[in-house]
Amino acid sequence: MKNSHYNLAVVGTGFASSFFLKEYLNHLGENDTVVVLERGTFNNGAPGREYGEHKGFSFDQSIVNTNPSKGWVQRIGFGGGTCWTGNTPRMHPNDFRTKSLYSHSEDWPITYQDLEPFYVDVEHTMGISGSADGPFPRSKPYLLPPHRLNALDREFLRKYPGELIPMPSARPSAAGAGRAICCANGICDTCPVAAKFQIDFHMRAIYQDPRVTLITEANVTSLDIRNQIVTGIHYTKDGAEHYVNCDLAAVGAHGIMTPYILLNSGLTDNALGRYLNEQVSIGVDVLLDGVRNYDGSQIMTGLGIMKLDGDFRKDTPGFLLENWNVPWLRAEAGRFRERGYFKLVFEEIPQESNFVGLSAAHPDKPEVNYADNSAYANNALANAEAIVADLLDGLPVESFSIKHPEGLGGEAHVQGTTRMGVDPNTSVVDAGLIHHKVRNLLALGSGAFPSCPAANPTLTLSALSVRAARQIMS
Ligand SMILES: Cc1cc2nc3c(=O)[nH]c(=O)nc-3n(C[C@H](O)[C@H](O)[C@H](O)COP(=O)(O)OP(=O)(O)OC[C@H]3O[C@@H](n4cnc5c(N)ncnc54)[C@H](O)[C@@H]3O)c2cc1C
Ligand code: SF4
Repeated sequence: MKNSHYNLAVVGTGFASSFFLKEYLNHLGENDTVVVLERGTFNNGAPGREYGEHKGFSFDQSIVNTNPSKGWVQRIGFGGGTCWTGNTPRMHPNDFRTKSLYSHSEDWPITYQDLEPFYVDVEHTMGISGSADGPFPRSKPYLLPPHRLNALDREFLRKYPGELIPMPSARPSAAGAGRAICCANGICDTCPVAAKFQIDFHMRAIYQDPRVTLITEANVTSLDIRNQIVTGIHYTKDGAEHYVNCDLAAVGAHGIMTPYILLNSGLTDNALGRYLNEQVSIGVDVLLDGVRNYDGSQIMTGLGIMKLDGDFRKDTPGFLLENWNVPWLRAEAGRFRERGYFKLVFEEIPQESNFVGLSAAHPDKPEVNYADNSAYANNALANAEAIVADLLDGLPVESFSIKHPEGLGGEAHVQGTTRMGVDPNTSVVDAGLIHHKVRNLLALGSGAFPSCPAANPTLTLSALSVRAARQIMS
């Protein structure tokens, strides 16, 4: 390597790292340098190549999972979670204040309004399709118009006026994002037409910037921290150990690997690795009565917000309804389309006792200890039948059946393990994602979330990265 000293070293090439890097480069001098260390392989950017990669791919090979009834999903590779579906709801303004309002989890050290301009920034980069409806105040419209709802969405809207909105998504509804329009075939982990926003396709340019050196198949193991300053990063590649020096380190290896790297570097913050969490969910299959469904224009068309927020959250989780538009047909002649499927995704209360730690037997892997969901979330799962019956009451539905999660379930939304806050005794990073004590270290990603709202996390974690980069460069 011609240069082993860099102004910035970034770990990972997923959403958290890439949005941080994109903003950082906007402020960087032309002679400054960045190294990016990515554990996975590079890819040639051919649309469709991801098919099935996350299915059957066992992230368990990379971790010690002490509770196999809880599965963990993460894609290791250039671009990080390219197999994501592309749903991009914002968090509800009250999601940032659940402790003050509902006496659980922790308040964020920032408000919705603090993050709002950065939501807009990321939404425009991703080319989001969506509407201005719903309790999510916005300073600028989405780049693209909303997708078309399906028939089941319209039935929900009849019962809950204004309480279902078109799913905001990184799947273009129209020309204008510089990529193909979503054709609603519903295999978005692949997206054979490269319509869905992906880092590896659509932010590739930042890795071709002459100031950036990208090293793939570089497995970061620890940081060199001396006198509370990161001086460099250790990684392995091709069976050998390597080291780079840096002035600033930004670790975006996702909610399990990031705390592992920090713990393996000797950091001992009380909250580091703890509060591991994600949302819980159920699926609902419905047989419709005289309603022909699946006429929407993307894989998930409706975002139900009828039970997203309210005083009830003190005792019962808020949830988002994700209405799917994948044509799973009914096996009766003439009634093929009289069917629907939706998911309810419930918020969770992060538990200190669920944590990522170091493994004595396998020091090269994080040990993931997840005993159980909170009673708060488990009660919602136990009451699923009544919740769904109430939701569907009065709609043209013949019957429904609930698909409960296998084991402890999972949404592939790993959160909480490097939580942000103002108190170093109960959090790991500050509102700028900077470690409380090691001030040239940032822990990026949804590990920073101090609460677990129902919304999918990627838009929010990307907005946090842009905000962090702008703050550190200002
Ligand atoms: C099937 C699926 C569907 C999803 N759909 C949605 C959705 O619709 N909406 C949504 O908001 N979210 C969705 N998600 C979640 C989304 O993928 C994650 O929130 C997102 O990828 C997290 O971004 P990140 O940058 O923090 O981590 P990642 O995208 O996971 O990136 C982490 C990067 O770090 C690298 N890395 C890991 N360990 C090391 C190491 N030791 N050394 C060097 N590099 C390392 C990885 O290879 C990767 O490049 C989905 C996830 C899955 C699996
Ligand atoms: S529905 Fe089709 S075109 Fe749209 S994002 Fe998914 S795979 Fe791509």
